[in-house]
Amino acid sequence: MILIDGKKISAEIKSEIAEQVKGIKERGGKTPHLSAVLVGHDGGSETYVAFKIKDCQEVGFKSSLHRFEDDVTEAELLSKVHELNSDDDVDGFQPINVGRMVIGLPSFISATPDGIIELLNRYGIETSGKNCVVVGRSNIVGRPMSVLMSQKAMNTTVTVAHSRTKNLKEVCASADILIAAIGSPEFVKADMVKEGAVVIDVGTTRVPSNETKSGFRLKGDVKFDEVAEKCSYITPVPGGVGPMTRVSLLKNTLLAATKQIYS
Ligand code: NAP
Repeated sequence: MILIDGKKISAEIKSEIAEQVKGIKERGGKTPHLSAVLVGHDGGSETYVAFKIKDCQEVGFKSSLHRFEDDVTEAELLSKVHELNSDDDVDGFQPINVGRMVIGLPSFISATPDGIIELLNRYGIETSGKNCVVVGRSNIVGRPMSVLMSQKAMNTTVTVAHSRTKNLKEVCASADILIAAIGSPEFVKADMVKEGAVVIDVGTTRVPSNETKSGFRLKGDVKFDEVAEKCSYITPVPGGVGPMTRVSLLKNTLLAATKQIYS
């Protein structure tokens, strides 16, 4: 079994981005700038946004954080969002981006699915003709993931499973590539995984823990210890898909700043 190291790959991509930003600055170009809006003090969001700001510093981007308390009015928040939206949206959730992505035009691809494609490609994992099962159909992970895996670049035959799927265990066990994006800790057990499958665990659920300072730890959707013994490749949680999501956001920011998608 090979452990897919998202931390290592994301560090490689970050240094590629930092090189490009250096070049842009040397040519007198515009420094890419990422803005984040944070409402309230949700622990997970605080952590994710703090990482985004740190990532921006590391690659030479500017960044700004717009903070609002929980009691911000909808009008106030929308006004800030409209102001920021007059710049290009790099998260890839905007309907026009999603439409462009679906028909295979250059687009800002949702960060998590884009990060997973990078991992599969950079590990040289053969995808053509394989059966891919994506568990989860959210607009930010499962659905765009299933579209990307069905496109010519990846050439897999895709099944999208969700909470109403019958015989989920058998469906998952038919996958050469199994992508779990459910949000249910350790849901995928060894008997749901084919021998030699590639397993990508997107889940990041905070569960209480006495062993960490923060009082919680992140759990994936896959029961790692028993599944790792059966598969050919697997992503850990943390350190697998998470760092790739962050680096894909940087990639989209760079694409927006250099107007490589559309202006
Ligand atoms: P979501 O919007 O809640 O969607 C979860 C999906 O899983 C839904 O489509 C749901 O089906 C399906 N599902 C739930 N329980 C199921 C079950 N028992 N059997 C089969 N399908 C089931 O979640 P999300 O935003 O896609 O996120 C999923 C997980 O990924 C979460 O843990 C989230 O924290 C994590 N995440 C991680 C990253 C990262 O960078 N690592 C990024 C984004 C999200 P229905 O549609 O039928 O309800």
